Amino acid sequence: MTSYDPQKIIDIHAHLHSDLPSDPALRVKALESLLVEQGLVDPAAIDAWIDLYAEEIGPKRGAHVVARAWTDPAFKAKLLADGTAAIREFDYQGHATGHLIAVENTDTVHNVVVCTLCSCYPFSLLGMSPGWYKAAEYRARVVREPRAVLKEFGVALGEEVEIRVWDSTSELRYLVVPQRPEGTDGLDAAALAALVTRNSMIGTDLLKARA
Ligand code: FE
Repeated sequence: MTSYDPQKIIDIHAHLHSDLPSDPALRVKALESLLVEQGLVDPAAIDAWIDLYAEEIGPKRGAHVVARAWTDPAFKAKLLADGTAAIREFDYQGHATGHLIAVENTDTVHNVVVCTLCSCYPFSLLGMSPGWYKAAEYRARVVREPRAVLKEFGVALGEEVEIRVWDSTSELRYLVVPQRPEGTDGLDAAALAALVTRNSMIGTDLLKARA
């Protein structure tokens, strides 16, 4: 006869429930299934969009813009004066940089970007936003204690460095132009772009030259 341990069944049941995806993930999945079933969306098109933003756009476009700013002073001046107009030169598609402000990190100023309301982000330059950017904890804490939050990201700034926190909106997006790493004088724009990380363009990373 097969043994039956009611407590074991209860434990397995609880475990299965605790391993379910989060509520929003389930809702998205349910919605997607319905849209596919009704023939309103093509799953291959969804995959193609995700691939485009993950592999082609982000964060390579942003890195390319930053490397250009490091190597072309006239472009950098234009980028800082009117981010949207400067980005237009690259002929990138996508509306998320329709109103873009570029802010430059220096020895005395460090910029960091957040969207306190939700998760507004320059998708057309940086691709998909990281999970932590959308998390309530980051959104709440970075405005209250930016120095402590940055330290947790490994960005330890001296007290002499002023931290500026920029709050994105659905209309306005920010791009941080990180400081060019030391020891990169001989590199061309393509090699420089390869050093630029996504987080450095949000303000949660400092760049180093590759050893
Ligand atoms: Fe938002």
